[in-house]
Amino acid sequence: MADLEFADFHKRRASRREPPLSHPTPYNKGMPDTQKSAAARLATPVQFLKGAGPRRAELLARLELCTAADVLFCFPRDYQDLTEVRRIADLEEGPLMNVRGTVIDVQSQATQRGGTLLAVLVRDEHDPLRALWFNQPQMHQRFRAGDRLLLSGRAKNREGIWEMPHPQVKRLEAEDAGAGALLPVYPLTAGLRQPEMRNIVRGVVDEFAALPDEVFPADFLTQRRLLPLREALPAIHFPASQADLEAARRRLIYQELLVLQLALAMRRHRQHDAVRAPALESTAKIDARIRKLFPFEFTAGQRQAIAEVTADMAQPVPMNRLLEGDVGSGKTVVAAYAMLLAVAHGYQVALMAPTEVLARQHAATFDALLSASQVRRGLLAGGMTKAARQDLLAGIASGDLDLIVGTQAIIQADVQFARLGLVVVDEQHKFGVRQRARLRGGGAEPHQLVMSATPIPRSLAMTLFGDLDVSTVRDQPPGRQPLGTYLIQPDERERWWQFVAKKLREGRQAYVVVPRVEESEDADVASLEAAYESLANGPLEEFRLGIIHGRMSADRTAAVMSAFRGGQLQALVCTTVVEVGLDVPNATVMTIDGAERFGLSQLHQLRGRIARGVHPGFCGVLAEPSTDQARTRLEAFVNTTDGFRLAEIDFDLRGPGELLGTRQHGLPPFRIADLSRDIELLEDARRDARELITADPDLTRLEFSHLRRMVLRRYGDVLELAEVV
Ligand code: ADP
Ligand code: MG
Repeated sequence: MADLEFADFHKRRASRREPPLSHPTPYNKGMPDTQKSAAARLATPVQFLKGAGPRRAELLARLELCTAADVLFCFPRDYQDLTEVRRIADLEEGPLMNVRGTVIDVQSQATQRGGTLLAVLVRDEHDPLRALWFNQPQMHQRFRAGDRLLLSGRAKNREGIWEMPHPQVKRLEAEDAGAGALLPVYPLTAGLRQPEMRNIVRGVVDEFAALPDEVFPADFLTQRRLLPLREALPAIHFPASQADLEAARRRLIYQELLVLQLALAMRRHRQHDAVRAPALESTAKIDARIRKLFPFEFTAGQRQAIAEVTADMAQPVPMNRLLEGDVGSGKTVVAAYAMLLAVAHGYQVALMAPTEVLARQHAATFDALLSASQVRRGLLAGGMTKAARQDLLAGIASGDLDLIVGTQAIIQADVQFARLGLVVVDEQHKFGVRQRARLRGGGAEPHQLVMSATPIPRSLAMTLFGDLDVSTVRDQPPGRQPLGTYLIQPDERERWWQFVAKKLREGRQAYVVVPRVEESEDADVASLEAAYESLANGPLEEFRLGIIHGRMSADRTAAVMSAFRGGQLQALVCTTVVEVGLDVPNATVMTIDGAERFGLSQLHQLRGRIARGVHPGFCGVLAEPSTDQARTRLEAFVNTTDGFRLAEIDFDLRGPGELLGTRQHGLPPFRIADLSRDIELLEDARRDARELITADPDLTRLEFSHLRRMVLRRYGDVLELAEVV
């Protein structure tokens, strides 16, 4: 049984820190190789591998490669395509190029600085090229006149002769041996060279690639047209062709994605199976009572989302739903409906916001909405006195409070709810898996609704949020004011500030957003204060300006926000604190300085703060884009008001970006899969995983025992599947 080693394909990094060299003796020393178990052979410490030895074993350990199995499952990070071979006459300076030639002459000479220079002269059908190595005197033994070589490197033309310093060399056995070759490129560490690494992997593949047990049953492989593992392993390292490589990649990526999807499906199944939530059905009476509180008709999108949410909440299974919609689409209204539904059933509800400012704003919204109602409310914020906090906690624990708004403070250990029926999380992507899990745990299982103004890419919704149902509000409440976005050229700045001043004089309010400088919070505050000073002593000097930043106390921030909301402050200089959800309808002008430093979705979030009332909005973008990509992004921002479309453009331009980073969400990184690229395989894996788990919820069937072990080993902890074991 060699599956343990193969399970290390998803190895848990933290747990493998034993230095390979301290291993007393090779496993089963003295026993003929053929009699050792496959597992023991795969556990061979790297120092005993062909081409390795104690010195290289130390280097390999730095790459966390300690055993033969580790090396076998250390996949190339790239391939060098040697199928494109140039004639020497057609070389260009700059990019990596391959040439083929015969060795004419080998010369080693001392340099003036006491080093050595090895020059190997090769020639293709027509032209010569000099391959050069500095200070590698032993290299010259590798070349003999007449050798056929494939060289890849960056060429330089020196006085009419092409030179290639330190090229990669592949020896061509016969005339065409090099054609079709894809050379693997491995992650390295200082002191370990690519050819050495290739050589070690070559040895491991030859000796060990057939040993790991197959993970999938044979008919599963056939049905899904997947390469068996023992064919995929050699092919991923040393593919004979592009097609060969594709087949191997497909098999290994699918496996990695399936393991994740199985974990998610198991968790989902377990929750559906075991966990009970209160069934909170909406009746016509409750519905009428809730609707009456809102001074407007719901939009079609809101009605649809409310229908989906209430259908979930009527089930005795915890709702786990993502509510996405562009800024201003009215998500909060949907959430408020759900919260009031739970309260109507005598349950407590909690709303968790990403920042204190937003928590206070949500609290104010509910104050306005519920001024005439019996719903007892509490705000759990930082900076409360100890006594006030104790009071609040007591009210939460006794069930005296119905509706609690707060920041992440809500998930602290000392917050105990009496009858928590629903949790709403605003701007969910700021929270990781573990936090979500924590909220869910703790006695009663509440329903859960998460809101996001940033559309979650499909691939992410299927992975991290693979167990999440999604509602999307696509429309906007009627009567939205137009919002214009303008790219302000450097010579137009004065005019822009004159325009801002004019709007302030008309009674409107303005935001001035300054980018974070990223170096430190001190630097942020300094640049913010500088911006404030130059406005207060310059174009906006006649107005009452406020400033908020991360260094201010919660009280101070709240005071400034409230002065801005109340109109005592006319303009607010700030970093991106205003990014999420702030709602001050009279603030209709926004200036975004250094806009090239913001992501598209973030810019859109920012702009979403204005044109929320009865007046049109104006967003001026001050930017100094230095790349074409930055320019394209800004143009897209100016020309597109659809946030979902912008998010797509952003993904296209910037690649998967942070949102797809599994690490920040608390999941271990993938070894070979890439969520932005492997979307189709991901869909296959999800469908297959759900089917498998429906048929065999704990994967107890014998033929899946390898898979099951892998799932638990990699995700058991982070997804809290432990009890499944
Ligand atoms: P989101 O959270 O999606 O950004 P909000 O729920 O904060 O949006 O709503 C934005 C603004 O639109 C709020 O001032 C809200 O009162 C208002 N609003 C929401 N739904 C409607 C509606 N159906 N009709 C009119 N105004 C609405
Ligand atoms: Mg909002």
